[in-house]
Amino acid sequence: MYIRDLLKKESLSISFEVFPPKNDTAVESVMQAACRIAALRPAYISVTYGAGGGQSKYTMAMAQRLQKEYGVPTVAHLTCVSSTRETIRTRMEEITALGIENVLALRGDLPADQTASDPLSWSYHHAIELVRELKQFRPDFCIGGACYPETHPEAANSRDDIRYLKEKVEAGCDFLTTQMFFDNSLLYSFLYRIREAGISVPVIPGIMPITNANQLKRAIELSRSFMPVRFLRLVDRFGSDEEAMKQAGIIYAIDQIIDLYASGIRHVHVYTMNKPDVAFKIIDNLSAILGSVSPAEGSR
Ligand code: FAD
Repeated sequence: MYIRDLLKKESLSISFEVFPPKNDTAVESVMQAACRIAALRPAYISVTYGAGGGQSKYTMAMAQRLQKEYGVPTVAHLTCVSSTRETIRTRMEEITALGIENVLALRGDLPADQTASDPLSWSYHHAIELVRELKQFRPDFCIGGACYPETHPEAANSRDDIRYLKEKVEAGCDFLTTQMFFDNSLLYSFLYRIREAGISVPVIPGIMPITNANQLKRAIELSRSFMPVRFLRLVDRFGSDEEAMKQAGIIYAIDQIIDLYASGIRHVHVYTMNKPDVAFKIIDNLSAILGSVSPAEGSR
């Protein structure tokens, strides 16, 4: 199913993100976790592609397996900055052959010592180039792009960032998924600014439940998100108690999601980080809101 069609539905829905194994030995455990998340029947599951400029040979296979075995639509992430044109061509053929219809087209993070304008012999510099190539390869692909309510860290300012975002959407994005944020008012103000700028595709807010102090550190490094005092107080109070922090982090994320739904957002994406218990608690606590039957105990 195309995500663009799913997003037309009036009902509230939720989707989850999983990441592929880093090596062969982790395949079984990662797949087991992803299958338990798929068993919760989210609206769709997205599967990330490498990180920090890396690639992943497992992304497409994982996306296909979840789709085939659980009937859950999947989105395969694809990054371009550290790829050659041949690699991207191979990936596009693989995606098509595996029956995956939805792709999140990303630039990818730059290697630590590079900037996008470095005069290297890179085939790609920005996600827009990948969006164009995907569209040309298969016009019916449903293509998503990333966006940043708090502005992409490399952007000179939010106006430029939104201008480039508009160009990316016009190149062929059917929807956008946001970077994580911990203060919903940042999302609402971003939505207002991009709608003013003429970007009208659906924007899916991305919510990251922070379940331990290390994850918090990594999330800040990665996203440079603003941490509201209310959230930092919670980390100060419960950060050293594993179970308490997990509970508090999940409840904070649920609170954000409920506020998003109450404010008219119909679809939310959750960065579940391959944690089925976190996905279960979120979906279980939203069961009446999502109008679904609470998931079975066995899915925890
Ligand atoms: P772009 O859209 O290319 O934007 C990057 C920067 O370049 C921005 O500052 C933008 O303003 C600027 N820019 C854009 N176009 C132009 C232009 N034409 N000229 C000049 N400047 C321009 N990373 C992974 O490695 N794997 C993943 O699976 C993954 N999944 C993600 C999912 C989501 C929802 C998000 C939000 C991020 C994800 N990332 C992932 C991280 C992402 O790759 C990084 O944030 C990366 O730094 C930017 O990617 P982008 O696609 O937004 O890039």
